[in-house]
Amino acid sequence: MQSRPPSRLVTEISLDGPGKRHGYVRVPLSSHESAYGFVPVPVVVISGAPGPTTVLTAGNHGDEYEGEVALAELARSLDPAELTGRLIIMPTLNQPAAVRARRTSPIDGGNLNRSFPGDAAGNVTQQIAYYVEENIIPLCDAVCDMHSGGSSLHYVPSTVIARWADVDKYKKSLAMVRAFGTPAAYVLDQPDDTNNTLLGAAGRKGKLFIGTELGGSGALSRETIRIARDGLRGLLTHLGHFTGKQQGKGAGFDTRILDLRGPEYYVYADDDGVYEPLAELGDEVVAGQPAARVHVPEKPWVEPLTLSFALSGMVLCKRAPARIRRGDCLFHIGTDVVA
Ligand SMILES: [Zn+2]
Repeated sequence: MQSRPPSRLVTEISLDGPGKRHGYVRVPLSSHESAYGFVPVPVVVISGAPGPTTVLTAGNHGDEYEGEVALAELARSLDPAELTGRLIIMPTLNQPAAVRARRTSPIDGGNLNRSFPGDAAGNVTQQIAYYVEENIIPLCDAVCDMHSGGSSLHYVPSTVIARWADVDKYKKSLAMVRAFGTPAAYVLDQPDDTNNTLLGAAGRKGKLFIGTELGGSGALSRETIRIARDGLRGLLTHLGHFTGKQQGKGAGFDTRILDLRGPEYYVYADDDGVYEPLAELGDEVVAGQPAARVHVPEKPWVEPLTLSFALSGMVLCKRAPARIRRGDCLFHIGTDVVA
């Protein structure tokens, strides 16, 4: 991809220099209600002793809350004197989606994590993507983008990395996974140059990347928020940011590393109806095992259809709402990485 100029969006604070500052990235939005208005995307920068820079994001999807809460908490609680290097923290990256508890932007319908590399002259979501890719990621050594399952899915608490062709980069990614310490992690194929996620953006800029999928159903739980807090502390300790009392060992699980590859890893609805799960999160399933029955209560004379898993593995992700439409994802599994 050709190099692009930095975004010209106004950032209210300097991202350079020591100390702790907060403000907004201003994405102009001229609407009926606010002719000269802007969308305020919050950013907090904390700089301590010389060291690496890590970018921490959440609210990329606005209905995934563990990262939003844990990052806001971290931003409030950290003293620059306790930090080595710099943290750039953006807890509600797709701010319009986050304040409305939506996966996608209520302004332009944009799914931020399908909008990279973005467009400086595009809609609000595309401008946020462009700003992150051209103004924020180049400043950092590592990116941590925190997701959960959102309103429609629920995950076994997991971290996400890519299987980089660069073996050293892949090993460093696995070490970040171990430091975060979720019960599971899954490995995606290396993103290609046109990948439209934040993982793809990190890849284009040659940066380390770790993502999370920490729960879901549009809710928080005590355990998933604990995993977010402790996992972050473990990750930041591993990356060399904490040397004193802020140090942590991560969320404490011996992480099971899984592959997530082609369409055979997923179970999709091929008709409309109400799905009855025949497996649960964390189950070990085998190829051909029934995954769900699809009932059609509005046509009580229709026999329910049975959907099956195509592969053997562990159930990593399950759909939350029972009502389904053709094309909805009901489950995906992961398979143990073969060393
Ligand atoms: Zn997400």
